[in-house]
Amino acid sequence: MLLLFDIDGTLLKTGGAGVAAFAQAGQHLYGSAFSLDGIQLAGRLDRHILADALQACGHPRCDHASFLDEYRRRLSAGLDAGAWESRPLPGARALVEMAHTHPDWTCGLLTGNWSETGTLKLQAAGFDLTHFVVRAWAGDGSDRPGLVRAALSRWGGAGDDAVVIGDTPHDVHCGQAHGCRTIGVTTGPFGRAELEAAGADLVVDDLTDTARLTAWLEMDR
Ligand SMILES: [Mg+2]
Repeated sequence: MLLLFDIDGTLLKTGGAGVAAFAQAGQHLYGSAFSLDGIQLAGRLDRHILADALQACGHPRCDHASFLDEYRRRLSAGLDAGAWESRPLPGARALVEMAHTHPDWTCGLLTGNWSETGTLKLQAAGFDLTHFVVRAWAGDGSDRPGLVRAALSRWGGAGDDAVVIGDTPHDVHCGQAHGCRTIGVTTGPFGRAELEAAGADLVVDDLTDTARLTAWLEMDR
């Protein structure tokens, strides 16, 4: 079985570091009108967020590589300086550790972060990157279901033997699109009712109840 973990709001929170560094990078490159205000962020791919922000401030074209370099540099500097703190969410590190050591499970990432910045967030929150054997980042698909396709392809298994774990309806829907089971966790901006309405197979308040999650994961479908 493949477990695909989302990052922001699921494994960790950066206390606003990601949003602040993203906005500051945009303002540095494209001027003070660049803003993330009013742009939907949770569960979306970083480059879609960038495209929306650029369109809103009148910059229809951009050099993604330059933006990513500036964003990565600012996020790294902020985390290193202690201006922001990337913290694991309750139970997340223990569940990842367990998934990593489980003989029949493969631990993976499925995230709208670019690899360069998602890696910084995970390392700052104390996660061991090598535990995530299968990784699908923002650059690996044109939308979130495309990231699931990329992850399954790299893993070599089918969607019905994979589980997507995330904090937004986007996470739930992308898993459903490929026949994966889905776990919604309410440590992000969405509550139980919203994740249940999206169709999550299981909704939990956090990832601390490893025994319950393991029992559910090992249950026959
Ligand atoms: Mg998330």
